[in-house]
Amino acid sequence: VTPVAGTTRDVNSLPAEWQGTPFRLVDTGGMFGASEDPLHELVIQHGRRALKEADVLVFVVDGREGLVSGDEEISAALRTASVPVVVAVNKTDDRRARGRALEFYKLGFEPVVEVAAEHGDGVGDLLDEITARIPAHRDGATADEQQETAVAIVGRPNVGKSSLLNKLAHEERSIVSEMPGTTRDSVDAVLKWHKRKFRIVDTAGIRRPGRVARSGQVEAVSVLVARRAIEKADVAVLVIDSVEGGTDQDATIAGEAEKAGCGIVVAANKWDLMKGRGTVFSKEFDDKLRQGLKFLDYAPVLHISAATGERTGKVLETIDKIAEARMRRIPTSELNRFVAAVTAVHPPASPGRREVRILYAAQIGVAPPTFVFFTNVATEFHFSYQRFLVNRLRESFGLIGTPIRIHVRRRER
Ligand code: GDP
Repeated sequence: VTPVAGTTRDVNSLPAEWQGTPFRLVDTGGMFGASEDPLHELVIQHGRRALKEADVLVFVVDGREGLVSGDEEISAALRTASVPVVVAVNKTDDRRARGRALEFYKLGFEPVVEVAAEHGDGVGDLLDEITARIPAHRDGATADEQQETAVAIVGRPNVGKSSLLNKLAHEERSIVSEMPGTTRDSVDAVLKWHKRKFRIVDTAGIRRPGRVARSGQVEAVSVLVARRAIEKADVAVLVIDSVEGGTDQDATIAGEAEKAGCGIVVAANKWDLMKGRGTVFSKEFDDKLRQGLKFLDYAPVLHISAATGERTGKVLETIDKIAEARMRRIPTSELNRFVAAVTAVHPPASPGRREVRILYAAQIGVAPPTFVFFTNVATEFHFSYQRFLVNRLRESFGLIGTPIRIHVRRRER
Protein backbone atom coordinates (compact mmCIF):
# COMPACT_ATOMS: atom_id res chain seq x y z
CA VAL A 1 0.00 0.00 0.00
CA THR A 2 1.36 3.38 -0.97
CA PRO A 3 -0.24 6.79 -1.07
CA VAL A 4 0.60 7.26 -4.76
CA ALA A 5 -2.38 6.87 -7.08
CA GLY A 6 -1.97 4.16 -9.68
CA THR A 7 0.57 2.06 -7.80
CA THR A 8 -1.58 -1.06 -7.88
CA ARG A 9 -0.89 -2.19 -11.41
CA ASP A 10 -1.44 -5.86 -11.03
CA VAL A 11 -4.72 -7.57 -10.62
CA ASN A 12 -4.30 -9.17 -7.23
CA SER A 13 -6.52 -12.06 -6.42
CA LEU A 14 -6.81 -13.73 -3.04
CA PRO A 15 -9.01 -16.41 -1.52
CA ALA A 16 -11.14 -15.00 1.28
CA GLU A 17 -13.83 -16.20 3.61
CA TRP A 18 -16.42 -14.42 5.74
CA GLN A 19 -18.80 -16.16 8.12
CA GLY A 20 -18.40 -19.43 6.29
CA THR A 21 -18.79 -18.03 2.80
CA PRO A 22 -15.68 -18.50 0.72
CA PHE A 23 -15.03 -16.18 -2.17
CA ARG A 24 -12.21 -14.80 -4.23
CA LEU A 25 -11.31 -11.20 -3.76
CA VAL A 26 -9.90 -9.52 -6.84
CA ASP A 27 -8.29 -6.12 -6.60
CA THR A 28 -8.17 -4.42 -9.97
CA GLY A 29 -5.34 -2.02 -10.64
CA GLY A 30 -6.02 1.63 -11.19
CA MET A 31 -8.01 1.05 -14.33
CA PHE A 32 -9.88 4.32 -14.41
CA GLY A 33 -8.62 7.81 -15.02
CA ALA A 34 -5.53 9.05 -16.80
CA SER A 35 -2.19 7.39 -16.30
CA GLU A 36 1.36 7.83 -17.50
CA ASP A 37 2.03 4.17 -16.96
CA PRO A 38 3.08 2.54 -20.24
CA LEU A 39 1.31 -0.59 -19.08
CA HIS A 40 -1.94 1.19 -18.42
CA GLU A 41 -3.63 -0.40 -21.41
CA LEU A 42 -2.84 -3.85 -20.00
CA VAL A 43 -4.08 -2.86 -16.58
CA ILE A 44 -7.34 -1.86 -18.16
CA GLN A 45 -7.62 -5.11 -20.10
CA HIS A 46 -7.06 -7.18 -16.98
CA GLY A 47 -9.38 -4.99 -14.97
CA ARG A 48 -12.16 -5.39 -17.54
CA ARG A 49 -11.78 -9.09 -17.41
CA ALA A 50 -11.97 -9.06 -13.64
CA LEU A 51 -15.16 -6.98 -13.84
CA LYS A 52 -16.65 -9.40 -16.30
CA GLU A 53 -15.97 -12.39 -14.12
CA ALA A 54 -17.05 -10.91 -10.81
CA ASP A 55 -20.27 -11.86 -9.01
CA VAL A 56 -20.26 -8.73 -6.87
CA LEU A 57 -18.51 -5.41 -7.43
CA VAL A 58 -17.28 -3.22 -4.62
CA PHE A 59 -16.97 0.37 -5.73
CA VAL A 60 -14.60 2.17 -3.39
CA VAL A 61 -14.94 5.94 -3.20
CA ASP A 62 -13.04 8.52 -1.20
CA GLY A 63 -15.24 9.97 1.52
CA ARG A 64 -12.75 12.73 2.22
CA GLU A 65 -12.96 14.04 -1.33
CA GLY A 66 -16.68 13.50 -1.66
CA LEU A 67 -18.36 12.73 -4.95
CA VAL A 68 -16.11 13.64 -7.87
CA SER A 69 -16.61 13.45 -11.61
CA GLY A 70 -14.39 10.38 -11.85
CA ASP A 71 -16.90 8.53 -9.68
CA GLU A 72 -19.66 9.23 -12.19
CA GLU A 73 -17.51 7.86 -14.98
CA ILE A 74 -16.81 4.66 -13.08
CA SER A 75 -20.47 4.31 -12.16
CA ALA A 76 -21.38 4.40 -15.82
CA ALA A 77 -18.97 1.55 -16.48
CA LEU A 78 -20.20 -0.46 -13.49
CA ARG A 79 -23.82 -0.06 -14.49
CA THR A 80 -23.11 -2.06 -17.65
CA ALA A 81 -22.12 -5.04 -15.49
CA SER A 82 -25.18 -7.04 -14.58
CA VAL A 83 -24.07 -7.84 -11.03
CA PRO A 84 -24.76 -6.12 -7.70
CA VAL A 85 -22.60 -3.12 -6.84
CA VAL A 86 -21.81 -2.25 -3.22
CA VAL A 87 -20.45 1.24 -2.61
CA ALA A 88 -17.76 1.48 0.07
CA VAL A 89 -17.17 5.05 1.22
CA ASN A 90 -13.65 4.97 2.57
CA LYS A 91 -11.66 7.19 4.93
CA THR A 92 -14.74 7.97 7.02
CA ASP A 93 -12.52 8.18 10.09
CA ASP A 94 -11.50 11.61 8.80
CA ARG A 95 -13.72 14.43 10.00
CA ARG A 96 -13.82 15.87 6.47
CA ALA A 97 -15.62 12.70 5.46
CA ARG A 98 -18.34 13.02 8.08
CA GLY A 99 -21.78 13.47 6.67
CA ARG A 100 -20.61 13.14 3.11
CA ALA A 101 -21.56 9.51 2.71
CA LEU A 102 -25.07 10.56 1.75
CA GLU A 103 -23.75 12.21 -1.43
CA PHE A 104 -22.85 8.84 -2.78
CA TYR A 105 -26.42 7.63 -2.91
CA LYS A 106 -26.66 9.86 -5.99
CA LEU A 107 -24.66 7.24 -7.85
CA GLY A 108 -27.70 5.03 -7.73
CA PHE A 109 -26.16 2.00 -6.09
CA GLU A 110 -27.21 0.43 -2.84
CA PRO A 111 -26.07 -0.33 -0.25
CA VAL A 112 -23.62 2.42 0.60
CA VAL A 113 -21.34 1.36 3.43
CA GLU A 114 -19.06 3.67 5.37
CA VAL A 115 -15.64 2.23 6.13
CA ALA A 116 -12.20 3.24 7.27
CA ALA A 117 -10.05 0.62 5.60
CA GLU A 118 -6.91 1.66 7.40
CA HIS A 119 -8.49 1.04 10.78
CA GLY A 120 -10.86 -1.73 9.79
CA ASP A 121 -13.96 0.24 10.80
CA GLY A 122 -17.07 -0.89 8.97
CA VAL A 123 -15.23 -3.66 7.17
CA GLY A 124 -17.33 -6.35 8.83
CA ASP A 125 -20.50 -4.62 7.63
CA LEU A 126 -19.06 -4.36 4.16
CA LEU A 127 -18.23 -8.08 4.17
CA ASP A 128 -21.79 -8.85 5.28
CA GLU A 129 -23.12 -6.88 2.33
CA ILE A 130 -20.73 -8.60 -0.07
CA THR A 131 -21.38 -12.15 1.06
CA ALA A 132 -25.14 -11.53 1.12
CA ARG A 133 -24.86 -10.92 -2.62
CA ILE A 134 -22.65 -13.84 -3.59
CA PRO A 135 -24.74 -16.37 -5.48
CA ALA A 136 -25.08 -19.21 -3.01
CA HIS A 137 -24.77 -22.13 -5.37
CA ARG A 138 -22.90 -20.91 -8.35
CA ASP A 139 -22.63 -23.68 -10.97
CA GLY A 140 -24.41 -25.88 -8.48
CA ALA A 141 -21.27 -25.91 -6.39
CA THR A 142 -21.30 -26.04 -2.61
CA ALA A 143 -19.23 -23.72 -0.51
CA ASP A 144 -16.64 -26.43 -0.03
CA GLU A 145 -16.13 -26.78 -3.74
CA GLN A 146 -15.34 -23.11 -4.10
CA GLN A 147 -12.07 -23.55 -2.25
CA GLU A 148 -9.22 -23.30 -4.67
CA THR A 149 -5.75 -24.66 -4.27
CA ALA A 150 -3.11 -22.61 -6.06
CA VAL A 151 -0.52 -24.89 -7.62
CA ALA A 152 2.85 -24.07 -9.16
CA ILE A 153 4.36 -26.56 -11.59
CA VAL A 154 8.07 -25.86 -11.43
CA GLY A 155 11.34 -27.37 -12.56
CA ARG A 156 14.09 -27.05 -15.10
CA PRO A 157 13.40 -26.79 -18.83
CA ASN A 158 12.48 -29.98 -20.65
CA VAL A 159 11.66 -32.01 -17.58
CA GLY A 160 8.05 -32.23 -18.77
CA LYS A 161 6.16 -29.43 -17.02
CA SER A 162 4.04 -28.52 -20.03
CA SER A 163 3.41 -32.17 -20.79
CA LEU A 164 2.21 -32.70 -17.24
CA LEU A 165 -0.02 -29.65 -17.33
CA ASN A 166 -1.56 -30.84 -20.58
CA LYS A 167 -2.09 -34.29 -19.23
CA LEU A 168 -3.76 -32.97 -16.10
CA ALA A 169 -5.83 -30.58 -18.14
CA HIS A 170 -7.09 -32.91 -20.79
CA GLU A 171 -7.10 -36.38 -19.45
CA GLU A 172 -8.27 -36.05 -15.89
CA ARG A 173 -11.74 -35.13 -17.05
CA SER A 174 -11.09 -31.71 -15.72
CA ILE A 175 -12.55 -28.51 -16.93
CA VAL A 176 -9.86 -26.10 -17.89
CA SER A 177 -10.15 -22.44 -18.30
CA GLU A 178 -7.37 -19.99 -18.69
CA MET A 179 -7.75 -17.05 -16.39
CA PRO A 180 -5.81 -13.85 -16.08
CA GLY A 181 -3.15 -14.51 -13.48
CA THR A 182 -2.24 -12.38 -10.56
CA THR A 183 0.40 -10.44 -12.42
CA ARG A 184 0.44 -8.70 -15.76
CA ASP A 185 2.13 -11.38 -17.77
CA SER A 186 0.97 -14.57 -16.17
CA VAL A 187 -1.78 -16.94 -17.11
CA ASP A 188 -3.48 -19.32 -14.71
CA ALA A 189 -5.34 -22.46 -15.63
CA VAL A 190 -8.15 -23.66 -13.44
CA LEU A 191 -8.76 -27.40 -13.24
CA LYS A 192 -11.65 -29.10 -11.60
CA TRP A 193 -11.05 -32.50 -10.13
CA HIS A 194 -13.70 -34.34 -8.18
CA LYS A 195 -15.04 -31.59 -5.98
CA ARG A 196 -11.86 -29.59 -5.95
CA LYS A 197 -10.55 -26.67 -7.89
CA PHE A 198 -6.91 -26.24 -8.66
CA ARG A 199 -5.54 -23.02 -10.00
CA ILE A 200 -2.31 -23.74 -11.79
CA VAL A 201 -0.51 -20.42 -11.51
CA ASP A 202 1.77 -18.83 -14.03
CA THR A 203 1.27 -21.35 -16.79
CA ALA A 204 2.90 -18.89 -19.19
CA GLY A 205 6.09 -19.44 -17.21
CA ILE A 206 5.87 -23.16 -17.79
CA ARG A 207 6.59 -22.73 -21.45
CA ARG A 208 8.69 -19.64 -21.40
CA PRO A 209 12.29 -20.28 -20.30
CA GLY A 210 13.25 -22.79 -22.94
CA ARG A 211 12.40 -20.30 -25.62
CA VAL A 212 13.98 -17.16 -24.30
CA ALA A 213 17.42 -18.21 -23.24
CA ARG A 214 20.12 -20.78 -23.69
CA SER A 215 21.76 -23.23 -21.29
CA GLY A 216 23.16 -21.32 -18.29
CA GLN A 217 20.67 -18.54 -18.63
CA VAL A 218 17.83 -20.97 -18.92
CA GLU A 219 18.71 -22.43 -15.55
CA ALA A 220 18.72 -19.03 -13.88
CA VAL A 221 15.48 -18.07 -15.55
CA SER A 222 13.78 -21.27 -14.47
CA VAL A 223 14.62 -20.55 -10.83
CA LEU A 224 13.21 -17.03 -11.15
CA VAL A 225 10.08 -18.28 -12.83
CA ALA A 226 9.72 -20.94 -10.16
CA ARG A 227 10.19 -18.48 -7.32
CA ARG A 228 7.53 -16.20 -8.68
CA ALA A 229 5.06 -19.03 -9.14
CA ILE A 230 5.84 -20.47 -5.71
CA GLU A 231 5.07 -17.15 -4.06
CA LYS A 232 1.53 -17.42 -5.33
CA ALA A 233 1.07 -21.11 -4.70
CA ASP A 234 -0.17 -23.28 -1.87
CA VAL A 235 1.54 -26.34 -3.26
CA ALA A 236 4.42 -26.67 -5.73
CA VAL A 237 4.91 -29.66 -7.99
CA LEU A 238 8.65 -29.94 -8.56
CA VAL A 239 9.01 -31.85 -11.79
CA ILE A 240 12.34 -33.56 -12.33
CA ASP A 241 13.66 -35.71 -15.12
CA SER A 242 14.12 -39.21 -13.68
CA VAL A 243 16.86 -40.00 -16.15
CA GLU A 244 18.92 -37.08 -14.88
CA GLY A 245 17.86 -37.28 -11.23
CA GLY A 246 17.75 -34.26 -8.92
CA THR A 247 20.14 -31.41 -9.67
CA ASP A 248 21.41 -28.38 -7.76
CA GLN A 249 18.82 -26.34 -9.56
CA ASP A 250 16.09 -28.57 -8.20
CA ALA A 251 17.51 -28.19 -4.70
CA THR A 252 17.43 -24.42 -5.10
CA ILE A 253 13.81 -24.48 -6.21
CA ALA A 254 12.94 -26.79 -3.32
CA GLY A 255 14.60 -24.33 -0.95
CA GLU A 256 12.43 -21.54 -2.36
CA ALA A 257 9.31 -23.55 -1.62
CA GLU A 258 10.44 -24.24 1.94
CA LYS A 259 11.23 -20.55 2.48
CA ALA A 260 7.89 -19.46 1.08
CA GLY A 261 5.98 -21.93 3.25
CA CYS A 262 4.65 -23.63 0.15
CA GLY A 263 3.82 -27.34 0.21
CA ILE A 264 5.77 -29.52 -2.19
CA VAL A 265 5.52 -32.80 -4.04
CA VAL A 266 8.24 -34.14 -6.31
CA ALA A 267 7.10 -35.59 -9.61
CA ALA A 268 9.87 -37.79 -10.95
CA ASN A 269 8.81 -37.66 -14.58
CA LYS A 270 9.71 -39.78 -17.60
CA TRP A 271 9.46 -42.84 -15.38
CA ASP A 272 8.46 -44.76 -18.53
CA LEU A 273 12.18 -44.68 -19.37
CA MET A 274 13.04 -46.31 -16.02
CA LYS A 275 10.60 -49.15 -16.36
CA GLY A 276 11.27 -52.68 -15.26
CA ARG A 277 14.06 -51.89 -12.83
CA GLY A 278 12.21 -53.14 -9.82
CA THR A 279 11.33 -51.87 -6.38
CA VAL A 280 14.87 -51.87 -5.01
CA PHE A 281 15.86 -49.50 -7.75
CA SER A 282 12.87 -47.27 -7.00
CA LYS A 283 13.76 -47.06 -3.36
CA GLU A 284 17.40 -46.26 -4.07
CA PHE A 285 16.26 -43.65 -6.55
CA ASP A 286 14.12 -41.92 -3.92
CA ASP A 287 16.83 -42.09 -1.27
CA LYS A 288 19.36 -40.54 -3.59
CA LEU A 289 16.89 -37.88 -4.62
CA ARG A 290 16.17 -36.95 -1.02
CA GLN A 291 19.87 -36.76 -0.21
CA GLY A 292 20.41 -34.40 -3.11
CA LEU A 293 17.43 -32.22 -2.33
CA LYS A 294 18.16 -31.45 1.27
CA PHE A 295 15.08 -29.36 1.93
CA LEU A 296 12.85 -32.08 0.74
CA ASP A 297 13.02 -34.88 3.21
CA TYR A 298 9.29 -34.40 3.78
CA ALA A 299 8.11 -34.18 0.19
CA PRO A 300 6.27 -37.17 -1.24
CA VAL A 301 7.92 -38.47 -4.41
CA LEU A 302 5.74 -39.75 -7.24
CA HIS A 303 7.07 -41.70 -10.19
CA ILE A 304 5.08 -40.49 -13.13
CA SER A 305 5.04 -40.34 -16.88
CA ALA A 306 3.47 -37.26 -18.36
CA ALA A 307 3.87 -38.88 -21.77
CA THR A 308 1.83 -42.01 -21.01
CA GLY A 309 -0.26 -40.56 -18.22
CA GLU A 310 0.91 -43.14 -15.73
CA ARG A 311 0.18 -42.01 -12.19
CA THR A 312 -0.48 -38.43 -13.26
CA GLY A 313 -3.83 -38.78 -11.50
CA LYS A 314 -1.87 -39.30 -8.29
CA VAL A 315 -0.44 -35.82 -8.69
CA LEU A 316 -3.74 -34.01 -8.07
CA GLU A 317 -4.63 -36.40 -5.29
CA THR A 318 -1.32 -35.71 -3.55
CA ILE A 319 -1.58 -31.95 -4.04
CA ASP A 320 -4.98 -32.11 -2.40
CA LYS A 321 -3.64 -34.00 0.61
CA ILE A 322 -0.75 -31.59 1.03
CA ALA A 323 -3.02 -28.56 0.72
CA GLU A 324 -5.21 -30.02 3.43
CA ALA A 325 -2.25 -30.77 5.73
CA ARG A 326 -0.92 -27.27 5.22
CA MET A 327 -4.19 -25.78 6.48
CA ARG A 328 -4.69 -28.19 9.35
CA ARG A 329 -5.31 -26.93 12.87
CA ILE A 330 -4.25 -29.26 15.63
CA PRO A 331 -6.46 -28.97 18.70
CA THR A 332 -4.50 -27.54 21.63
CA SER A 333 -5.32 -30.51 23.83
CA GLU A 334 -3.84 -32.93 21.30
CA LEU A 335 -0.82 -30.73 20.87
CA ASN A 336 -0.15 -30.72 24.58
CA ARG A 337 -0.52 -34.47 24.85
CA PHE A 338 2.08 -34.56 22.10
CA VAL A 339 4.38 -32.23 24.07
CA ALA A 340 4.06 -34.34 27.20
CA ALA A 341 4.78 -37.58 25.36
CA VAL A 342 7.70 -36.29 23.33
CA THR A 343 9.47 -34.37 26.09
CA ALA A 344 9.12 -37.26 28.50
CA VAL A 345 11.42 -39.25 26.26
CA HIS A 346 13.47 -36.41 24.75
CA PRO A 347 13.64 -33.27 26.88
CA PRO A 348 15.23 -30.30 25.15
CA ALA A 349 18.97 -30.12 25.59
CA SER A 350 19.84 -27.18 27.81
CA PRO A 351 22.59 -24.88 26.65
CA GLY A 352 23.04 -23.23 30.04
CA ARG A 353 22.93 -24.50 33.56
CA ARG A 354 19.21 -24.25 34.03
CA GLU A 355 17.04 -27.07 33.01
CA VAL A 356 14.87 -26.25 29.99
CA ARG A 357 11.33 -27.51 30.08
CA ILE A 358 8.63 -27.15 27.48
CA LEU A 359 5.56 -26.16 29.45
CA TYR A 360 3.03 -26.17 26.66
CA ALA A 361 2.59 -25.46 22.98
CA ALA A 362 0.11 -23.72 20.76
CA GLN A 363 -0.48 -23.60 17.05
CA ILE A 364 -0.43 -19.97 16.03
CA GLY A 365 -0.99 -20.32 12.32
CA VAL A 366 -1.57 -22.39 9.23
CA ALA A 367 -0.21 -22.25 5.68
CA PRO A 368 2.25 -23.47 6.79
CA PRO A 369 1.41 -24.90 10.22
CA THR A 370 3.24 -22.79 12.80
CA PHE A 371 3.73 -23.69 16.43
CA VAL A 372 5.05 -21.96 19.52
CA PHE A 373 6.64 -23.93 22.30
CA PHE A 374 6.59 -22.12 25.62
CA THR A 375 9.49 -22.80 27.92
CA ASN A 376 10.36 -22.04 31.54
CA VAL A 377 13.44 -20.03 30.55
CA ALA A 378 14.33 -17.88 27.56
CA THR A 379 16.16 -20.18 25.20
CA GLU A 380 16.55 -21.45 21.70
CA PHE A 381 16.39 -25.06 20.73
CA HIS A 382 19.40 -26.63 19.20
CA PHE A 383 18.97 -27.15 15.47
CA SER A 384 18.83 -30.89 15.86
CA TYR A 385 16.14 -30.64 18.52
CA GLN A 386 14.09 -28.34 16.31
CA ARG A 387 14.36 -30.82 13.54
CA PHE A 388 13.37 -33.60 15.86
CA LEU A 389 10.25 -31.73 16.97
CA VAL A 390 9.29 -30.91 13.41
CA ASN A 391 9.66 -34.52 12.36
CA ARG A 392 7.63 -35.76 15.29
CA LEU A 393 4.89 -33.19 14.64
CA ARG A 394 4.81 -34.29 11.04
CA GLU A 395 4.50 -37.96 11.92
CA SER A 396 2.05 -37.51 14.76
CA PHE A 397 -0.36 -35.28 12.89
CA GLY A 398 0.16 -36.47 9.32
CA LEU A 399 1.46 -33.13 8.09
CA ILE A 400 2.67 -34.46 4.75
CA GLY A 401 4.45 -32.35 2.18
CA THR A 402 4.18 -29.06 4.03
CA PRO A 403 6.85 -26.99 5.73
CA ILE A 404 6.36 -26.65 9.49
CA ARG A 405 7.54 -23.66 11.49
CA ILE A 406 8.33 -23.67 15.15
CA HIS A 407 9.14 -20.89 17.58
CA VAL A 408 10.30 -20.97 21.16
CA ARG A 409 9.17 -18.43 23.70
CA ARG A 410 9.56 -18.07 27.39
CA ARG A 411 6.28 -18.29 29.18
CA GLU A 412 5.11 -14.89 30.37
CA ARG A 413 5.05 -14.58 34.10
P1 GDP B 1 9.01 -28.42 -19.98
O1 GDP B 1 10.06 -27.60 -20.64
O2 GDP B 1 9.41 -28.76 -18.58
O3 GDP B 1 7.65 -27.86 -20.06
O4 GDP B 1 9.02 -29.85 -20.74
P2 GDP B 1 8.06 -30.39 -21.93
O5 GDP B 1 6.74 -30.77 -21.38
O6 GDP B 1 8.10 -29.44 -23.05
O7 GDP B 1 8.80 -31.75 -22.30
C1 GDP B 1 10.15 -31.76 -22.75
C2 GDP B 1 10.39 -33.02 -23.55
O8 GDP B 1 10.28 -34.18 -22.73
C3 GDP B 1 9.39 -33.21 -24.69
O9 GDP B 1 10.08 -33.71 -25.80
C4 GDP B 1 8.42 -34.24 -24.13
O10 GDP B 1 7.85 -35.01 -25.16
C5 GDP B 1 9.33 -35.09 -23.26
N1 GDP B 1 8.59 -35.72 -22.17
C6 GDP B 1 7.76 -35.11 -21.29
N2 GDP B 1 7.26 -36.01 -20.41
C7 GDP B 1 7.76 -37.20 -20.73
C8 GDP B 1 7.63 -38.52 -20.17
O11 GDP B 1 6.90 -38.79 -19.21
N3 GDP B 1 8.35 -39.51 -20.75
C9 GDP B 1 9.15 -39.28 -21.81
N4 GDP B 1 9.80 -40.33 -22.31
N5 GDP B 1 9.29 -38.06 -22.36
C10 GDP B 1 8.62 -37.03 -21.82
